[in-house]
Amino acid sequence: MTTPSSHQPCSVCGDPMDPVHTASCLFCNGKFHLTWDTRVEVKDCGRFDLDDQSLALYFTCGTCAESRGMGGQTP
Ligand SMILES: [Zn+2]
Ligand SMILES: [Zn+2]
Repeated sequence: MTTPSSHQPCSVCGDPMDPVHTASCLFCNGKFHLTWDTRVEVKDCGRFDLDDQSLALYFTCGTCAESRGMGGQTP
């Protein structure tokens, strides 16, 4: 009856998440609110960046971004 893998709260703000607009943090593995669709009004609790070496997209939650001094919004 319980499915702990889904409906887990955001690791940044603690609010329940839309299963579509979430991402997993590369550093702490926490799930958080994130959307790259600017037409959808979903709050972002983290950011996404492109790795210079591997050219892979990776996600950083707001907590880790702050602790790593990556403040500011994605372009
Ligand atoms: Zn959140
Ligand atoms: Zn994190």
